[in-house]
Amino acid sequence: MNIKDMKRLMTMTALALALAACGDGKGGNAAPAADGEAPVLVKAAEGLEVYWLKDNEGGRLMPASLFPDAPEALIDSLGVQDGIPSSTGAFLARTADGDILFDTGNGGPEGHLTDRLDSLGLAPADIDYIYITHFHGDHIGGMMEGDSAVFTNAQVYVPKAEYDAWMAMPADRKSQVVRTMDAYRDRLHMVDPRQELLAGSDVVLPGGVVPYHAPGHTPGHTVYYLGQAGLMIVGDLMHGAALQLEHPEINANFDMDGAVAAATRAKVLDCVRTNGLVMAGMHLPAPGYIDFAAEPAD
Ligand SMILES: [Zn+2]
Repeated sequence: MNIKDMKRLMTMTALALALAACGDGKGGNAAPAADGEAPVLVKAAEGLEVYWLKDNEGGRLMPASLFPDAPEALIDSLGVQDGIPSSTGAFLARTADGDILFDTGNGGPEGHLTDRLDSLGLAPADIDYIYITHFHGDHIGGMMEGDSAVFTNAQVYVPKAEYDAWMAMPADRKSQVVRTMDAYRDRLHMVDPRQELLAGSDVVLPGGVVPYHAPGHTPGHTVYYLGQAGLMIVGDLMHGAALQLEHPEINANFDMDGAVAAATRAKVLDCVRTNGLVMAGMHLPAPGYIDFAAEPAD
């Protein structure tokens, strides 16, 4: 048991539950900034700022039933029977090379990504690059409005293994992916991520971002490392951090290959802890990240 992680999570859990209690988060006494209703500054470094852009409104709880491997005793002991604090979000890196969006949220009437960008003075057309972790709808949904591309100028980078895996799926399952990739086909780039975490950096994307293969949740799921900020954007490594930080062997129903997902989760968590990185995740509760550099490793 890692006590410091538990303390962090308890703080995050308390915050997220407080937010959930606030309903839409627009109440007069809602917590400022860190609740995600405005962009949250995750990390700033020389010539670089990274923001958490929460896509959903208010708080979000993942039902415990989404984690069938989680023992009931554990769920009870953490007090998360009513749901595990979570969110849906994306990240923005403002770099010397341009503005980079990591995933795009759900889109549609529920999605708030463009509102968050707007509060930073950015329009969708201002985004220079989009780096995609994987092809689930809560990550690529924001790329489209109806049949039109939302981000009219962005160069889009997708993991090649993810692209190939989805293209091999049945037509009804891949329709959103096909439609979306088609809308961006003139500015679509295939990425071949590094296989071993933090090993080698010959694949470097604009902004100095290095992609690493982190499969299991989906076949080509990819995490992105911003070395300059000591930050790893881990996509859907976890859907219920309160459970999975201490128990990486627990999968969510969404994980396509559970055994591979669990191994990847353990490996990435070990990497961010050992190296004292900031871990940013698309389904972490507010404030969307955990700073493992804030305290020395055990
Ligand atoms: Zn997701």
